[in-house]
Amino acid sequence: MGSIEDFRSEAHDWIEANLPSELRVGNRKDLPKELLGAWIQAMASRGWVAPEWPTEYGGGGLDRSHAAALRAELKAFRAPVVGGFGTQMLGPTLLELGTDAQKEEFLPGICKHETKWCQGYSEPGAGSDLASLQTRAVLEGDEYVITGQKIWTTGADRADWIFCLVRTDPEAPKHEGISFILFPMDQPGVEVSPLRLIDGSEDFSQVFFNGARAKASHVIGPVNGGWTVAKRLLQHERTTDGGSEGGITGAQKETYADVVKREVGFDNGVLADPVLRQRLASQEQEAAALSLTMRRAREEARAGQTARDIGSLGKYRWANMVKGEQDLAMLALGAHGLGWEGPGFEDTQLERTRAWLSTRSDSIWGGTNEVQLNVIAKRVLHIPE
Ligand SMILES: Cc1cc2nc3c(=O)[nH]c(=O)nc-3n(C[C@H](O)[C@H](O)[C@H](O)COP(=O)(O)OP(=O)(O)OC[C@H]3O[C@@H](n4cnc5c(N)ncnc54)[C@H](O)[C@@H]3O)c2cc1C
Repeated sequence: MGSIEDFRSEAHDWIEANLPSELRVGNRKDLPKELLGAWIQAMASRGWVAPEWPTEYGGGGLDRSHAAALRAELKAFRAPVVGGFGTQMLGPTLLELGTDAQKEEFLPGICKHETKWCQGYSEPGAGSDLASLQTRAVLEGDEYVITGQKIWTTGADRADWIFCLVRTDPEAPKHEGISFILFPMDQPGVEVSPLRLIDGSEDFSQVFFNGARAKASHVIGPVNGGWTVAKRLLQHERTTDGGSEGGITGAQKETYADVVKREVGFDNGVLADPVLRQRLASQEQEAAALSLTMRRAREEARAGQTARDIGSLGKYRWANMVKGEQDLAMLALGAHGLGWEGPGFEDTQLERTRAWLSTRSDSIWGGTNEVQLNVIAKRVLHIPE
């Protein structure tokens, strides 16, 4: 595989040659579609949509150190992150718990970024208490027929497929009658109804199943053994999101620190407001500490030296951190942060207000902050109930 230095230099040159300047701005929602599509294809052709997955499925076949070097280079270029539910959650779960046939069927579509996935976990009566879910799946021949409702399903209106928790044995204790199943969204028994978030976007939906069909061969893990699969996927979700690089929200033209510096200004080379100066320094320290802590925790987890649920710690601290960053930007903006639309506010100010509102959800999705604290107490610190 060659030395890390050589690989990093090769990756640098390749990114320089393939990443257009218009895309060197992080994960913005308004990136030019054609350029983004070409960039994703270029990444997929190298297996770099899923750098650590085996090459037989279209992954990059890199070891952890080479993959980390690649991510560092991509981050240095502010390249948009290519991936989503497929690469971050379903793929790693399939690699561990799927059959060979399931891996062959689903992983290449994820590596090519051709199949978009959504996550059908939450229901109106089952959020934190996820095992109370009621969506039913009944076996008819070699297919399951699915009836019920999911809610807060991010990207459901764009997704090709859903990974879904369904109740296959209503008589069993609640954790023991659940299965983890995959099925296509584009079929008569699936209806998607978008919901508006507080930041004005319509990024998630209610999803209704009325006789939706799934192949029995698309159950991942044992029938009625889906709870274990579901928990493993959540560990990946919490690790990849919460435990990733600290301080990145990525969606804005400016970072929160840029906003503070611009709005407050400088006095003798230091930020003019001593209170905001202190808050900014604390935020930056938190970001650096979280990044280092999670890097260490990931290494320890891979070596089997710490609990897999350590991702909950990262998710909890990350959620508080990004909310704190946006709070600080809003403090610096003052009345300029109160705009929603129309004249009187600059685009960056309007964007910041919505970003602040959007980050309110970061301590809810993927398990609320309170749920993460429960997980840390029970499964990381082993505190008796
Ligand atoms: C932006 C966003 C995107 C989402 N995307 C998806 C998605 O793609 N797919 C999906 O399936 N779901 C998704 N969700 C749903 C998310 O997983 C749930 O909102 C979350 O699990 C909380 O469930 P709930 O909303 O039912 O709240 P509840 O579980 O009703 O919780 C309400 C309050 O009670 C507290 N609470 C509950 N139980 C306990 C406890 N045991 N101890 C202490 N406090 C407790 C919670 O912390 C919370 O403050 C998304 C949510 C958001 C905000």
